[in-house]
Amino acid sequence: MHVSYHARFQLIAAMNPCRCGHADDASLACHRLPLCRQEYLAKLSGPLLDRFDIRINVPPVPLSQMIDDEKGENSAAVAARVEAAQALQLARQDCLNARLDGERLRKLANPNKAARKLLDAVIDESGLTARGFNRILRVARSLADLAARDALSEADIATALVWRDMSV
Ligand SMILES: [Zn+2]
Repeated sequence: MHVSYHARFQLIAAMNPCRCGHADDASLACHRLPLCRQEYLAKLSGPLLDRFDIRINVPPVPLSQMIDDEKGENSAAVAARVEAAQALQLARQDCLNARLDGERLRKLANPNKAARKLLDAVIDESGLTARGFNRILRVARSLADLAARDALSEADIATALVWRDMSV
């Protein structure tokens, strides 16, 4: 049986780099690599992974850094930047980038010449799915909006590609 729930949601998930969890920690070096990682990642299906816009590897934080006083940018500053980007999106298309379907997204993405060239190369070489391509475009569009730029730059596309870590 299928059930449809009318809901908008944002899915954020985390997983270990391998079954034992120490693949990326040199001090606890995992002895079963690369099998430990391969077996663990194989639990996730490709189509499921394909639906995540952003996939990044987060290395372990050394304990010494955790007690450091140094603080990052505060949440209020980040929230203000996000609000400004969302206002741009609403003015341009009456909805947030997350709600754009593939066709409208491709129409509104506005990559500059260098960005378009990189996109063409990605399509030719990576075996990207249509869904994956749209997700890269969507993340890149949001990066440009956060910087209040009309056109997508090559760097926006490159960052979206890196955040879609193909090795995961
Ligand atoms: Zn392991």
